[in-house]
Amino acid sequence: MEDYQKCKAYRGNVIYSKNKDTLISKENSYMLVCEGIVKGIFKELPNGFPKENIIDWGNKLIIPGFCDMHVHAPQFLQRGMGMDRELLDWLKTYTYPNESKFKDPNHAREVYSLFVDELLRQGTLHVNIFPSIHYEASEILFEILEQRGLFAFTGKLNMDQNSPEYYIEDTEKSLVDTEKFIQKHQKDGNVKVSIVPRFTITCSEKLLAGLGSLSEKYGVPVHSHMCEAVNTIKVSQELFPDYKNEAEIFYQNNLLGQRPTIMAHCIFMDDEVLKLMKNPSCMAVHCPDATANINAGGIMPVKKLLEMGINLAIGSDIGSGANLSIARGIASTIQHSKIRNMFDSQWDAVTLPEAFYMATRSGGRYFKNVGAFEEGYCFNALVIDDSNMPGEGFTPVERLERFCYLGDDRNIAMRYILEKEILV
Ligand SMILES: [Zn+2]
Repeated sequence: MEDYQKCKAYRGNVIYSKNKDTLISKENSYMLVCEGIVKGIFKELPNGFPKENIIDWGNKLIIPGFCDMHVHAPQFLQRGMGMDRELLDWLKTYTYPNESKFKDPNHAREVYSLFVDELLRQGTLHVNIFPSIHYEASEILFEILEQRGLFAFTGKLNMDQNSPEYYIEDTEKSLVDTEKFIQKHQKDGNVKVSIVPRFTITCSEKLLAGLGSLSEKYGVPVHSHMCEAVNTIKVSQELFPDYKNEAEIFYQNNLLGQRPTIMAHCIFMDDEVLKLMKNPSCMAVHCPDATANINAGGIMPVKKLLEMGINLAIGSDIGSGANLSIARGIASTIQHSKIRNMFDSQWDAVTLPEAFYMATRSGGRYFKNVGAFEEGYCFNALVIDDSNMPGEGFTPVERLERFCYLGDDRNIAMRYILEKEILV
């Protein structure tokens, strides 16, 4: 029998995804949590459960913390600017000058602290991050993530070609620094290292091959952009004429599917690319806000990929996305699928259960046992207070949907990571 002195019971309306099609909703229930881990959800507490260990959230919703599976930490201050530009133009005009400032560790500490605070404020407890090329700034980001308790993957960005002279690396140094970063952070913790080549355009074949070897040597996951925009695909084909497509460039260099691999965007994928991505180790990240802002030339066919069984998650992708709210990303995912249908009606719109699944349980698989509330999952949770939204008689799932469309961080009454209260 469980020693209930070490357990707490969180009462409220509990919602989580069972799978992409099914939301579990347990009204007025108790979630039993022992030492940060979910034990079960019950209508009645077991006899003898200590009353002082009940945390009563009343009529509020309790949902898993969100997963932002593609976000650029150094772009935090450039959000909402250059949104009328094309991707390559936006990178050159806004992003590279901005990211180059992270050479200054003081700047990095200041901006990364603000960034991580804002992630938590928006209810993102699990995050997969793009840093800058700078070793020291990347260390600072790693340290802040650890201090604030998030579950995260981050690393040191790599780019050694087609970049401005003030923001580019020597190939050898890029590899040496990356290996040093990996070696330093091999210990087990909630923040882990990933290998982060920016995209094929800014990485030479030698750099990609070297990163693939490091991924293999240390078993490190990979995070990059792929099949993102009409223009980037065209440039990539010119730079890598011996490869059929971007997926093949990553795959042949040991950077796609050999270890856990997260690829942002994945908008333009032909059958061969889809075959490579239909791998349990791969995940494609839909970034609807970024897609709309920076004019990639298309919208990810989310419904098609879901039905094919390709792992999918949601990313804010700031700064080409402007908003760090993954709740907002859920609403945008549904909206964008309807816009896509106007031009390609063979796929239905994405449903709320599907988009919520992408934002929680599906993204969470990268971290293991987060993003849902089954027995053995981490109690990484948000308490949603929607009492400022008028209306009565709605189901908890309807209230969840309303929060995604109408709510913001002010509706998040509490954030828990492994049961610890996170103050913002
Ligand atoms: Zn991105």
